[in-house]
Amino acid sequence: MTHITDVVIIGAGPVGLFAIFECGMLKLKCHVFDALDRVGGQCAALYPEKPIYDIPAHPEILGADLSSNLHRQALPFDPTFHLGEQVQQIEQLDAEGRLWQIIGSKGTVIQARSLIIAAGVGAFGPNRPPLEGIEAFEGTSVHYYVNSRESYRGKHVVIAGGGDSAVDWALSLSEIAARVSVVHRRPKFRAAPESEARLKSLADAGTIDLVIPFQLSGLRGADGQLSHVEVESLEGEKQEIKADVLLPFFGLSMNLGPIAEWELGLSKHHISIEPGTSATNRPGVYAIGDIATYPHKLKLILTGFAEAAQAAHAIRHFLYPEEVIHFEYSTTKGVP
Ligand code: FAD
Repeated sequence: MTHITDVVIIGAGPVGLFAIFECGMLKLKCHVFDALDRVGGQCAALYPEKPIYDIPAHPEILGADLSSNLHRQALPFDPTFHLGEQVQQIEQLDAEGRLWQIIGSKGTVIQARSLIIAAGVGAFGPNRPPLEGIEAFEGTSVHYYVNSRESYRGKHVVIAGGGDSAVDWALSLSEIAARVSVVHRRPKFRAAPESEARLKSLADAGTIDLVIPFQLSGLRGADGQLSHVEVESLEGEKQEIKADVLLPFFGLSMNLGPIAEWELGLSKHHISIEPGTSATNRPGVYAIGDIATYPHKLKLILTGFAEAAQAAHAIRHFLYPEEVIHFEYSTTKGVP
């Protein structure tokens, strides 16, 4: 079945969600795709339980709460979500770029009068350690994200990696886990200096085990349940660490996926846009949030929110060039 709408938004991260609100305020109906099976993008998938401190008017808000608030703010505008469906193809159907066909991985076909690409870092996924048989433990005792801190209470947790995620989660989980061991192949960490200092003082106090410089070499266990993680130093020294769970934090692999094929102006794996309108090089196609770039771009959620507002206004003008838009505050207009 082919749906017809004003705007298709690709990506239901924080910025895509706010674009629904901004489009809705200008009476533009939206269909929204996300490859993930939930809304909220990086905030919901990567750090739902971390507090964010730089969202205006929220001195502190958890990633999960920001996502659900944005979702709630968008709902009065009655968007249609296509979750768990990656947009694979976009096709311009008219010369002016006022009619596009969008095709999703589950076969959904939508015709839209404009497009907003809010695809963040593209199709993102964790960098997985090259360990034989790791697939058998993924989802049960090997996790790439922490969805619920509580589920680690009383467990033997092995964390691998040397960046902020590895160090922050080691500090946090050391409060509730039976034991936390951190495996890193270098003596120096790439985390915030205060966090690294806290990690080292907890290690000196015997609360956390630092297994450095070592790297992961194997997994032992049965039926999806780990019993030990094997590690090896560069000199070939081997150790086994008792483990109920392994959390490898080796960063994200970022990949534009199908977006790279859409003849958009790209700069270092980002979409180049015109600041002020978020217009791309293709008529009717706008890009906002982490995926959009221009000189001096600040890759922050709050920057994406402003880009969402600018794109919605630019789209309204693009679709109705004769119309004089009387700018109104939300306090005047209200919401449905
Ligand atoms: P994303 O959140 O990346 O969402 C994009 C969505 O698009 C994803 O859900 C993806 O699945 C989807 N997608 C991609 N391609 C397709 C496709 N072809 N079809 C369908 N769907 C697709 N920022 C701050 O401002 N303050 C902070 O304190 C902060 N802390 C952070 C902490 C961590 C650990 C991390 C990883 C990031 C942090 N950030 C922070 C950055 C912030 O999360 C991003 O700037 C923000 O998520 C960008 O939002 P977005 O909507 O542009 O993209």
